[in-house]
Amino acid sequence: MRDFSELELDSELLQAIEEIGYERPTAVQAEAIPPALDGRDVLASAPTGTGKTAAFLLPMLQHLQDFPRKKPGPARVLVLTPTRELAIQVADQARALAKYTSLNIFTITGGISYDDHAELLGKTQDIVVATPGRLMEYIESERFDCRAIECLILDEADRMLDMGFAKVVERINKECRWRRQSLLFSATLEGKGVRDFSTKILNEPVEVNAEPPRRERKKIHQYYHRCDNMTHKLALLENILKGEAERTIIFVKTRERLATLRDQLAAMHVPCCWIQGEMAQVSRNNTIRRFREGEVNVMLATDVAARGIDLPDVSHVINFDMPRTADVYLHRIGRTARAGKKGTAVALVEAHDQAMIERVGRYLKEEVAERFIEGLRPTHKKPTVVKKKKKDPKKKVAAKKKKAKK
Ligand code: AMP
Repeated sequence: MRDFSELELDSELLQAIEEIGYERPTAVQAEAIPPALDGRDVLASAPTGTGKTAAFLLPMLQHLQDFPRKKPGPARVLVLTPTRELAIQVADQARALAKYTSLNIFTITGGISYDDHAELLGKTQDIVVATPGRLMEYIESERFDCRAIECLILDEADRMLDMGFAKVVERINKECRWRRQSLLFSATLEGKGVRDFSTKILNEPVEVNAEPPRRERKKIHQYYHRCDNMTHKLALLENILKGEAERTIIFVKTRERLATLRDQLAAMHVPCCWIQGEMAQVSRNNTIRRFREGEVNVMLATDVAARGIDLPDVSHVINFDMPRTADVYLHRIGRTARAGKKGTAVALVEAHDQAMIERVGRYLKEEVAERFIEGLRPTHKKPTVVKKKKKDPKKKVAAKKKKAKK
């Protein structure tokens, strides 16, 4: 699909799209918008960065335009997201796309006082973007009315399941039983969890797959440095940050590591901001704003905290600590090279991480190359990773039987 005008969208929406600067629909938009406009349920695998948000928002906005409300009342479209940051981003994008309409968009998330919500709960809402936990509280206390919901959207459903929201979402699903349409977006549809879950939510869905095209991935230049120890690792990091990197996210594994690294960066005179779990909403928003507006160009993050956040124009992702799985690695590096831009992903690998970086190579079907910085070469010998032999399943069964006999 070459042009948004090929989609059956109102001129108000097309004008907003033009103003935002989207030139043509992304793969997931081209595939998901037409069936969603026809009122079909959609099951889409689309990770962040594929344009998934507009893929579900545009058909919803068009529906609200096609069937304008006759009198004030409660929300008609409900979007559930796993985190409050994502909810805020989705709502921001919805407002930008709805700029030339008179639709009202609100967020209901944790981290906001009940008093602040009280006012908006009484207002006429067209689209509500919410995190499941807080919304459920309002449903239970009969302060949020689901009876007018016509469309339910689950964004990043896999993350919602990972975060233990399955039961709450199922309850919200039941509360919204009068709706006419449901859309479920998930970074992946692999594994039983999301599929099983989708059968409870969706009705004969059209399936759309928009895994990031391999050529997109190619735009991420990936390499790793081997580090002898923490001092060496920090020296490498300083070299990268003061050299080629422009706007960087540095991933660490824990909050404690984040705090230590924050002090170490201060000692190097590298200004940074940070985002971690259990942080006051105001500080989170402030961090994101400072980074987005270019006030600081280095952000420290833990995986949990960075989930679902869309930060534009990141030139470098640095894996200061290697993640525990190749999937998380892929998720992390997906934060660079967005929307056709080039990006770099650097991993700082200690001897015990060697197995992981090689596993990542196998997972991506593309070996991650090692690079050296003159004067900062590692002094230790590269460890050889011995692949664990898979046990012969037949032998395993035989051993089990033997044990049982005993
Ligand atoms: P998402 O996958 O929804 O998180 O979107 C990733 C980024 O792509 C966001 O910054 C969007 O604003 C942007 N985007 C969405 N649709 C398009 C499009 N058709 N063309 C260019 N950029 C887009």
